[in-house]
Amino acid sequence: MKYYSTNKNTPDVSLKEAVVKGLAADNGLFMPEKIKKFDASFFDTIQNLTFQEIAFEVANKFFGEDIDEGKLKEIVYDTLQFDCPVVKVTDSIYSLELFHGPTLAFKDVGARFMARLLQHFLGKQEKLVNVLVATSGDTGSAVANGFLGVDGIHVYVLYPKGKVSLIQESQFTTLGQNITALEVDGTFDDCQHLVKTAFLDIELNEKLVLTSANSINVARFLPQAFYYFNAYARLKENGVLDGKELVVSVPSGNFGNLTAGLIAGEMGLPIKQFIAANNENDVVFEYLNSGVYTARPSVETIANAMDVGAPSNFARILDLYAYSHKTISEKIIGYRYSDDEIKTIIDKVYTEAGYLCDPHGACGFESLSEYLGENQVGVFLETAHPAKFTETVEKVIGEGKVALPAKLAEFMKGEKQSQNISKDYKEFKQFLIK
Ligand SMILES: *Cc1c(COP(=O)(O)O)cnc(C)c1O
Repeated sequence: MKYYSTNKNTPDVSLKEAVVKGLAADNGLFMPEKIKKFDASFFDTIQNLTFQEIAFEVANKFFGEDIDEGKLKEIVYDTLQFDCPVVKVTDSIYSLELFHGPTLAFKDVGARFMARLLQHFLGKQEKLVNVLVATSGDTGSAVANGFLGVDGIHVYVLYPKGKVSLIQESQFTTLGQNITALEVDGTFDDCQHLVKTAFLDIELNEKLVLTSANSINVARFLPQAFYYFNAYARLKENGVLDGKELVVSVPSGNFGNLTAGLIAGEMGLPIKQFIAANNENDVVFEYLNSGVYTARPSVETIANAMDVGAPSNFARILDLYAYSHKTISEKIIGYRYSDDEIKTIIDKVYTEAGYLCDPHGACGFESLSEYLGENQVGVFLETAHPAKFTETVEKVIGEGKVALPAKLAEFMKGEKQSQNISKDYKEFKQFLIK
């Protein structure tokens, strides 16, 4: 299948090229030329399939023309070595827990899938492929763990010294093998600047094969559609959907996850309504309500994975619905919450329903409780384990209440191995070359 650029100013490319390049030559984002629908009958029996089986069927619609079935199955099953369960929170609201992967964040699925797809496409090429990723915390851990031990690929994670929590840092600095952590004496923006400069450095690119693993990559973005099909299947399996409409709320930052959900809807998945739940970074919320989109610098909040002021995947949403504000604002309803509101929600859901939300999931929950009408069931995507935000969550519900999951405790035991570098590009380049 071909992939086109949302800017429509460059020729279509193959899946391989879209994955290796990441961004299109005209700076647009790649989109699949076709979105293949499932027959209605698929949804009659979807509840009999496991998460992994469903994911394979969905992956086959996207990638089946480009990768043979056996290989694709191997990639999907290697990526999904954990479940994605729905948990009942109230009579009409369910949590889809996306945090059962290696770093307890939903980005694990996309990162691992992309690592295996890249490995498949690069095959036995003799030159090592270097993945560069700048992180303020979560992306680095998901990418490092997704690519850990994948032959032929070396990952450099650049992170700002002293600005990443100890738990986050331990998830990419203790791995070793093909993962190198670079502790940059600077800010997240400095890290991002180093990476961007490296991609544009002609001399460096002649010496080394470089690629990026950020969320605009189609191989990270499309597999997120798996979640939505699984949510539907598990709710149906529990008999929750009988005669009811399904509403899905997605805590959103760069809007990759929600866009994958919209694509699932276009593939025939019966979702009545999508909700985009935001923190105070509300440029899409504003667009939905006014039709005017104004990107802005991000503001810091306690739901920091959603602190995005210019969401990259918004370009995909505009493209998907032919730039129609009318269509987009029908498909997606926006809600936004302040830090104080988020804390109140975490407290309320914990005391009244006995469910502990992380700050991102809390926005998802609340938007459903505001929106849901008669004969509707809501599911929110719980994008991170609350233990990843212990400090915030314990301030609300009390000290010592959030147990550190075994997976995170394991990381904390490992020895930190990172290399200090300055924010000077020449030093970074020398480091990569040697
Ligand atoms: C990345 C992230 C989000 C936002 O996802 P997008 O696809 O960027 O909208 C939400 N919650 C958590 C915990 C995340 O790590």
